[in-house]
Amino acid sequence: MISGASVAGPVLAYWLSKYGFQVTVVERAPTLRKTGGHAVDLFRPAMQIVTKMGLLEQVRAKVTGTETLVIHRAGAKPVTVDLRKVYTAVSDDHLEIMRDDLSEIFYDATRDNVEYVFSDSITSISDDGEVAFEHGPSRLFDVIVGADGLHSNVRALTFGPEAAFSTWIGAYLSVVSMPNYLNLDGVMETIAVPPPGRTPAEAAAA
Ligand SMILES: Cc1cc2nc3c(=O)[nH]c(=O)nc-3n(C[C@H](O)[C@H](O)[C@H](O)COP(=O)(O)OP(=O)(O)OC[C@H]3O[C@@H](n4cnc5c(N)ncnc54)[C@H](O)[C@@H]3O)c2cc1C
Repeated sequence: MISGASVAGPVLAYWLSKYGFQVTVVERAPTLRKTGGHAVDLFRPAMQIVTKMGLLEQVRAKVTGTETLVIHRAGAKPVTVDLRKVYTAVSDDHLEIMRDDLSEIFYDATRDNVEYVFSDSITSISDDGEVAFEHGPSRLFDVIVGADGLHSNVRALTFGPEAAFSTWIGAYLSVVSMPNYLNLDGVMETIAVPPPGRTPAEAAAA
């Protein structure tokens, strides 16, 4: 039983299924999440895994290319970073792809051999592997894996509220898709705004 059908869930499902396990993935969202959002960079270790899964060509067919990062700060000149140089310095094997395209490729590669249950979530896990769900009937599993993201449900059910294990660093990150009204092409524009009452220098020092 794997909770979460994004990146980690379907990849683990692929490998477990390949080696003979019967795998069920439960996903809270009603369908595979295809909401746009952000790109992820795959470097050598991830590229090797994608290659071993035989999915390199499908991933290559969906690549995006953020080449330039521009950082805007109040009272300072914009800083422009050539990301291609950064990527080359980090790894000799890299590509960029939208997270949900990657997730869909992994899902398509596993959907025939793995049971996917959408619109459901685990509500309890007993010591003997009995798993209860919000909607479906309880079922018994040998192994239960949490691949349900930063605020993992499985982790909370197993180890308790995440407040005991995480520290909030005072920042939120929100990702949305929107019309490209600035006609950006391969450019990431970043606007750094200090918290109210702090100058940019104070915020940077903090
Ligand atoms: C702006 C941005 C840029 C990033 N860039 C990169 C990058 O360049 N390279 C990189 O490797 N990573 C990058 N990341 C991080 C990357 O997106 C995550 O590491 C990756 O998505 C984690 O995959 P995951 O499968 O572990 O979890 P997630 O992608 O978080 O997916 C969790 C899944 O679990 C589901 N879920 C949640 N709760 C439940 C529940 N109770 N029951 C069932 N299902 C549930 C969710 O709906 C979701 O489908 C970036 C992230 C952001 C926001």
